[in-house]
Amino acid sequence: MGKKRFETAVIHEGYDAKQMLGSLSTPLFQTSTYEFQSAEHGEKCFRGEDTGYIYTRIGNPTVHVLEKRIAELEGAESGLAFSSGMGAISAVLIALTKANDHVLCSSGLYGCTFGLLMMMKEKYNMTVDFSDFTSKEEIRKQIKPETAVIYVETPINPTMKLIDLQLVAEVAKEFNIPVVVDNTFSSPYLQRPIELGCDVVVHSATKYLNGHGDVIAGLAVGKKDFLDEVAATTQKDIGAVLAPFDAWLLLRGMKTLPLRMDRHCDNAEKIVVKLVDHEKIAAVYYPKKDEGNVYSKQMSRGGGVIAFEIKGSKEDAQKMLNKLTFAKVAVSLGDAETLIEHPATMTHAVIPEEERIKMGIKDNLIRLSVGLEAWEDIWEDLEQALHTF
Ligand SMILES: *Cc1c(COP(=O)(O)O)cnc(C)c1O
Repeated sequence: MGKKRFETAVIHEGYDAKQMLGSLSTPLFQTSTYEFQSAEHGEKCFRGEDTGYIYTRIGNPTVHVLEKRIAELEGAESGLAFSSGMGAISAVLIALTKANDHVLCSSGLYGCTFGLLMMMKEKYNMTVDFSDFTSKEEIRKQIKPETAVIYVETPINPTMKLIDLQLVAEVAKEFNIPVVVDNTFSSPYLQRPIELGCDVVVHSATKYLNGHGDVIAGLAVGKKDFLDEVAATTQKDIGAVLAPFDAWLLLRGMKTLPLRMDRHCDNAEKIVVKLVDHEKIAAVYYPKKDEGNVYSKQMSRGGGVIAFEIKGSKEDAQKMLNKLTFAKVAVSLGDAETLIEHPATMTHAVIPEEERIKMGIKDNLIRLSVGLEAWEDIWEDLEQALHTF
């Protein structure tokens, strides 16, 4: 059989039940350590002459199935699992940089990624610049001799602006700079940056990949040589490894990723149409609305997150959120439940006001992670809440 299609790989890749007493479900290896066959076997394992397991921070069979599976789904050589998205992001960024290096980032970044880069800037005298990555000339101008990484999020949270990954990868190749992409919002089902020429993909698997709001986890995929280096250094020695049980839950949650993602997209597309037509809504941001070239080049669908501006104030936004009946006022995204939040006072509150406004995060902006409920119910809940101001 040739390469399996996405929907098959997400269920089967990296696991052979026949080698595990026929257990259909991937066994949970809930162990911290492993007994060697002999003292000599232990010596060989430590020398790397035998692939036997030693200790779960260095490797675990349940976690390995997950790592093989995500690598296959992203079209990458190799994968690694971490105890959180930030565990993955910090391990990758620290492995790729040294003191005095320069990092070029997308102009919108997940808050803790921004915080990590600011800490590295302070401690290691690094420099960090932000780019809209709109043209090759613009990117070339922002690259310095000491640029060590280009780090991109697309769609950008919460404004849902897109960055052309192929364009960024082409310029990065000219300078031999690795491109790291945070693919959390799309999941590999909708967007595969490695296929577009990017080098490393990181995920908060807490979101769509797990999809059930009950795990914090991170993943990174890329070339085997680089991930082996991460595994032996910033993963093993900093130690943000994924617990076997969380890997087991994630393997279970991921089996339905294509089904869930299509439903998230179906629901989001319906809600976008309603929001655009509503008299209390000033603007709606959703990838599909950007019908340009970039969208069709790199995304198969728009995903489940919508941002919108109400014709009202911060207080009106808060009144609206308070009036919702089953949509949950909460951060995070990608769960079965519809989640809604106010970026200016929650996820993006740490960004100074002036910068926040420049990024398009106004006081009347609301971020909605459309859940798997009946879209009509989601809309009815939003609609009645829009009447409160
Ligand atoms: C949530 C999130 C992260 C951080 O992931 P954790 O699993 O919470 O550590 C990073 N990037 C994006 C885009 C996210 O949404």
